[in-house]
Amino acid sequence: MPDLRELYQDIILDHSKNPRNYHKIEPADRRAEGNNPLCGDRLTLYLRLDGDRIADVGFEGHGCAISKASASMMTVSLKGRTREEARVLFERFHDMVTGQPGGPIDAQALGKLAVFAGVCEFPARVKCASLPWHTMKAALEEKETVTME
Ligand code: ZN
Repeated sequence: MPDLRELYQDIILDHSKNPRNYHKIEPADRRAEGNNPLCGDRLTLYLRLDGDRIADVGFEGHGCAISKASASMMTVSLKGRTREEARVLFERFHDMVTGQPGGPIDAQALGKLAVFAGVCEFPARVKCASLPWHTMKAALEEKETVTME
């Protein structure tokens, strides 16, 4: 049986080294900047909307491996979702990374995003993992910036 923890680390490492959708979208319908001063993570998130659906999503920025991998995997998960689906996914992800270690997670809804379940064991990393999601939520709510405190 493969070591799940190692497998998860491989996925996070892969996305941090080769982030998907790492580009500006121009023109974008929504744009927001996220800032996590505790770690130094910064990112700009771009969304293109098609009615109620997220047609395209991209990001730029710099930060630690967790924040970059989280942003990359988030963009992959969001494409084609409705705003409501994106909001629900935000809640599931947030519940997971702020929950108790070993606590129940909605693996079906989260899919590959479940690799971040281990983050809740590292309080200093929770904001790194959730920064892109807060930035996405801010973008949908037409806020320009979000700072993790
Ligand atoms: Zn970080």
